[in-house]
Amino acid sequence: MFENLQDKLNNAFRTLKGKDRISDINVAATTKEVRKALVDADVNFKVAKEITDRIREKAIDRKILISVEPGQMFVKIVQEELTELMGGNAEGINIKGDPAVILIAGLQGSGKTTFSGKLASLLKKQGRQVLLTACDVYRPAAIDQLKVLGEQIGVEVYSEPENKNAVSIAQNAVSHAKKSGKKIVIVDTAGRLAVDEVMMKEVEDIKTSVKPSEILFVVDSMTGQDAVNTAKTFNERLDFDGVVLTKLDGDARGGAALSIRQVVEKPIKYISTGEKMEALDSFYPDRMASRILGMGDVISLVERAQQAFDEDEAKRINAKMRQNKFDFDDFLGQLQQIKKMGNVKDLIGMIPGMGSAIKNLDIDNESFKPIEAIIQSMTKKERENPDIIDGSRKKRIAAGSGTTILQVNNLIKQFDEMRKMMKKMNTMQAAGKLGKAMR
Ligand code: GDP
Repeated sequence: MFENLQDKLNNAFRTLKGKDRISDINVAATTKEVRKALVDADVNFKVAKEITDRIREKAIDRKILISVEPGQMFVKIVQEELTELMGGNAEGINIKGDPAVILIAGLQGSGKTTFSGKLASLLKKQGRQVLLTACDVYRPAAIDQLKVLGEQIGVEVYSEPENKNAVSIAQNAVSHAKKSGKKIVIVDTAGRLAVDEVMMKEVEDIKTSVKPSEILFVVDSMTGQDAVNTAKTFNERLDFDGVVLTKLDGDARGGAALSIRQVVEKPIKYISTGEKMEALDSFYPDRMASRILGMGDVISLVERAQQAFDEDEAKRINAKMRQNKFDFDDFLGQLQQIKKMGNVKDLIGMIPGMGSAIKNLDIDNESFKPIEAIIQSMTKKERENPDIIDGSRKKRIAAGSGTTILQVNNLIKQFDEMRKMMKKMNTMQAAGKLGKAMR
């Protein structure tokens, strides 16, 4: 995902990275390239100009011309600004109410039904009682599609194939949830190929009658600025709470992801990167910015793997993360789990430095081999305590795994970064800062 944008940004940074001596002319040229990359990615021109103006100011403020690593510092500034552009902090969904109602809206084909299933599956894994509701009264196939998904993830689907009134179906679903002890009702609504009055009115009526605590608008990210405009139109009518961006796996440009927050003033809450039920991530602006800049997103990767684990294993790993004891054996276990999850290329793109390196490669499960080989060449002690891996041990591991010392170094460095991030996240969670954001 975002391959084109990544490429162009990397090219832009090359001007700074390669230079021994940097002048303000280089900085200006790089900033201009960044702006061009953003516009090419379908980011609104005004937004692109504002952000690059700020990037240049920050670059001057932080005296990057005389800093030790001007290239890296510049990338960091861009990372901060992209994070800000996409909303700064992550925002969770609101599931207040008994039952809480989550309303899913969007155009036909945007991925609403698939997302409804994914969200139900995610909430179920968190131990919640969920009811899916099929409110598409125009396409019987949509009801069947939701039923198939429901069966697959083990979540009940409420439907009334004979009833042509979506509002009453939604109301009946809520009553059914109350009776059957379900705490969350996900209402999948009908979509049309383009924004139309009947659809809008219907979703509005459902909103008025079942009072959702959360309205999520689902949109296909590949449609770029169209996605942004549709979001704007829906928001004016529905005043939704958050956006779900789908099909990011096929989005090379990233314009919707980068502009929606700024233009619509509503946060992106989830991103979908494939057809499989596991291909859903909470949206974290900082992680996404890192991913766009090819810095990877190890935390999302680990989270995704955790979802694939059974509950006991997930608990065990969580406890280790909390105690800052997550080790190479755990990492290896997760990689092996990921291999079973499909869409490996996108997953590997989450590993720092891998995004741009793999874009032209045919990736399959073989691609994990070097990482696995490196970890397997470590002794048990080394896996549990990577700090003891000194120069001579690295040499031995590289020889044993048929890799280079540089590869071993990179893996250890990235693993270290990952542990630091995990520690930071846990501290934040402990302090209650993330307590509210449901993940
Ligand atoms: P709806 O009409 O809005 O309910 O859309 P669907 O959920 O039926 O999705 C339309 C098509 O897009 C289906 O073929 C899905 O499998 C596919 N789809 C949904 N989300 C994603 C995604 O994140 N990535 C990819 N590649 N396909 C997706």
